Amino acid sequence: MQRNAKEILRRYLAERGLKITRQRYIILEAFIELGRHLHVDEFYPILRAKYPKIGHATVYRSLKLFAESGIAREIRFGDGLTRYELVTEVRHNHLLCTACGTITEFESAGLGQLEASIVKDYGFKIQSLQIELRGVCSQCLESAPGALARDTGYQLAEL
Ligand SMILES: [Zn+2]
Ligand SMILES: [Zn+2]
Repeated sequence: MQRNAKEILRRYLAERGLKITRQRYIILEAFIELGRHLHVDEFYPILRAKYPKIGHATVYRSLKLFAESGIAREIRFGDGLTRYELVTEVRHNHLLCTACGTITEFESAGLGQLEASIVKDYGFKIQSLQIELRGVCSQCLESAPGALARDTGYQLAEL
Protein backbone atom coordinates (compact mmCIF):
# COMPACT_ATOMS: atom_id res chain seq x y z
CA MET A 1 0.00 0.00 0.00
CA GLN A 2 2.76 2.43 0.88
CA ARG A 3 4.26 2.08 -2.57
CA ASN A 4 0.84 2.32 -4.23
CA ALA A 5 -0.40 5.29 -2.24
CA LYS A 6 0.74 7.85 -4.80
CA GLU A 7 -0.80 5.90 -7.67
CA ILE A 8 -4.11 5.45 -5.82
CA LEU A 9 -4.24 9.16 -5.01
CA ARG A 10 -3.33 10.12 -8.55
CA ARG A 11 -6.15 7.95 -9.93
CA TYR A 12 -8.64 9.19 -7.34
CA LEU A 13 -7.92 12.78 -8.31
CA ALA A 14 -7.89 12.07 -12.03
CA GLU A 15 -11.40 10.58 -11.82
CA ARG A 16 -12.48 13.94 -10.43
CA GLY A 17 -10.60 15.92 -13.03
CA LEU A 18 -7.93 16.97 -10.54
CA LYS A 19 -4.20 16.64 -10.41
CA ILE A 20 -1.70 16.11 -7.65
CA THR A 21 -0.36 19.57 -7.01
CA ARG A 22 3.24 19.98 -5.95
CA GLN A 23 2.16 20.86 -2.43
CA ARG A 24 -0.10 17.83 -2.16
CA TYR A 25 2.73 15.70 -3.40
CA ILE A 26 5.09 17.09 -0.75
CA ILE A 27 2.46 16.54 1.94
CA LEU A 28 1.86 13.00 0.75
CA GLU A 29 5.58 12.17 0.74
CA ALA A 30 5.95 13.44 4.29
CA PHE A 31 2.80 11.62 5.37
CA ILE A 32 4.07 8.33 3.96
CA GLU A 33 7.36 8.84 5.75
CA LEU A 34 5.80 9.74 9.12
CA GLY A 35 2.57 7.90 8.48
CA ARG A 36 1.30 7.17 11.95
CA HIS A 37 -1.51 8.72 14.01
CA LEU A 38 -0.81 12.24 12.88
CA HIS A 39 -2.99 15.10 13.96
CA VAL A 40 -2.95 18.13 11.67
CA ASP A 41 -1.48 20.33 14.42
CA GLU A 42 1.41 17.91 14.84
CA PHE A 43 1.94 17.41 11.13
CA TYR A 44 1.71 21.02 10.01
CA PRO A 45 4.70 22.38 12.01
CA ILE A 46 6.88 19.51 10.76
CA LEU A 47 5.99 20.38 7.17
CA ARG A 48 6.28 24.10 7.65
CA ALA A 49 9.78 23.83 9.05
CA LYS A 50 10.82 22.40 5.69
CA TYR A 51 8.35 24.10 3.36
CA PRO A 52 7.42 27.53 4.76
CA LYS A 53 4.90 28.17 1.98
CA ILE A 54 2.58 25.32 2.92
CA GLY A 55 -0.54 26.51 4.72
CA HIS A 56 -2.41 24.87 7.58
CA ALA A 57 -5.61 24.63 5.54
CA THR A 58 -3.81 22.85 2.71
CA VAL A 59 -2.41 20.27 5.12
CA TYR A 60 -5.84 19.84 6.72
CA ARG A 61 -7.58 19.38 3.36
CA SER A 62 -4.88 17.03 2.11
CA LEU A 63 -5.27 14.72 5.10
CA LYS A 64 -9.03 14.62 4.50
CA LEU A 65 -8.40 13.90 0.84
CA PHE A 66 -6.01 11.06 1.72
CA ALA A 67 -8.75 9.52 3.86
CA GLU A 68 -11.40 9.95 1.14
CA SER A 69 -9.17 8.30 -1.43
CA GLY A 70 -8.60 5.34 0.87
CA ILE A 71 -4.84 5.66 1.35
CA ALA A 72 -5.27 6.92 4.90
CA ARG A 73 -7.63 6.16 7.72
CA GLU A 74 -9.10 8.58 10.23
CA ILE A 75 -8.70 7.48 13.81
CA ARG A 76 -10.29 9.00 16.88
CA PHE A 77 -9.17 8.08 20.36
CA GLY A 78 -11.89 9.93 22.21
CA ASP A 79 -9.80 13.05 22.93
CA GLY A 80 -11.65 15.08 20.30
CA LEU A 81 -8.77 14.96 17.82
CA THR A 82 -8.88 13.33 14.42
CA ARG A 83 -5.64 11.57 13.62
CA TYR A 84 -4.63 10.04 10.34
CA GLU A 85 -2.55 7.03 9.56
CA LEU A 86 -1.49 5.39 6.36
CA VAL A 87 -3.48 2.28 5.50
CA THR A 88 -1.08 -0.65 5.37
CA GLU A 89 -1.46 -4.36 4.78
CA VAL A 90 -0.50 -5.11 8.35
CA ARG A 91 -3.50 -4.80 10.62
CA HIS A 92 -2.84 -3.41 14.03
CA ASN A 93 -4.52 -1.99 17.06
CA HIS A 94 -3.49 0.66 19.55
CA LEU A 95 -2.34 1.01 23.13
CA LEU A 96 -2.85 4.52 24.48
CA CYS A 97 -0.86 5.76 27.45
CA THR A 98 -3.08 8.05 29.50
CA ALA A 99 -0.03 9.51 31.27
CA CYS A 100 2.20 10.58 28.37
CA GLY A 101 -0.10 10.21 25.38
CA THR A 102 2.13 7.72 23.57
CA ILE A 103 0.35 5.55 21.03
CA THR A 104 1.81 2.08 20.58
CA GLU A 105 0.68 -0.32 17.90
CA PHE A 106 0.14 -3.96 18.66
CA GLU A 107 -0.85 -7.04 16.77
CA SER A 108 -2.52 -10.02 18.31
CA ALA A 109 -3.22 -13.40 16.81
CA GLY A 110 -6.01 -13.68 19.35
CA LEU A 111 -8.00 -10.98 17.55
CA GLY A 112 -7.87 -12.97 14.33
CA GLN A 113 -9.22 -15.95 16.25
CA LEU A 114 -11.96 -13.82 17.79
CA GLU A 115 -12.95 -12.59 14.34
CA ALA A 116 -13.03 -16.12 12.95
CA SER A 117 -15.18 -17.37 15.82
CA ILE A 118 -17.66 -14.47 15.42
CA VAL A 119 -18.00 -15.23 11.72
CA LYS A 120 -18.49 -18.91 12.50
CA ASP A 121 -20.87 -18.55 15.46
CA TYR A 122 -22.95 -15.60 14.29
CA GLY A 123 -22.52 -15.64 10.52
CA PHE A 124 -21.59 -11.99 10.91
CA LYS A 125 -19.29 -10.43 8.35
CA ILE A 126 -16.94 -8.08 10.16
CA GLN A 127 -15.99 -4.97 8.21
CA SER A 128 -13.83 -3.30 10.78
CA LEU A 129 -12.29 -4.25 14.05
CA GLN A 130 -10.35 -1.63 15.95
CA ILE A 131 -9.27 -2.04 19.51
CA GLU A 132 -7.91 0.73 21.68
CA LEU A 133 -6.61 -0.13 25.09
CA ARG A 134 -6.04 2.70 27.55
CA GLY A 135 -3.50 2.41 30.30
CA VAL A 136 -0.01 3.38 31.36
CA CYS A 137 3.03 2.54 29.26
CA SER A 138 6.06 0.76 30.67
CA GLN A 139 8.22 3.92 30.56
CA CYS A 140 5.71 5.92 32.58
CA LEU A 141 5.36 3.05 35.05
CA GLU A 142 9.13 3.00 35.46
CA SER A 143 9.42 6.74 36.04
CA ALA A 144 6.63 6.98 38.61
CA PRO A 145 5.55 3.47 39.48
CA GLY A 146 3.58 4.10 42.66
CA ALA A 147 1.16 6.81 41.63
CA LEU A 148 0.51 5.56 38.12
CA ALA A 149 0.05 1.96 39.11
CA ARG A 150 -2.50 3.06 41.71
CA ASP A 151 -4.36 5.11 39.11
CA THR A 152 -4.46 2.16 36.76
CA GLY A 153 -5.78 -0.10 39.48
CA TYR A 154 -8.50 2.40 40.29
CA GLN A 155 -9.60 2.71 36.66
CA LEU A 156 -9.66 -1.04 36.23
CA ALA A 157 -11.64 -1.45 39.43
CA GLU A 158 -14.16 1.07 38.12
CA LEU A 159 -14.72 -0.96 35.00
ZN1 LIG B 1 3.40 6.71 28.99
ZN1 LIG C 1 -1.78 2.77 14.12
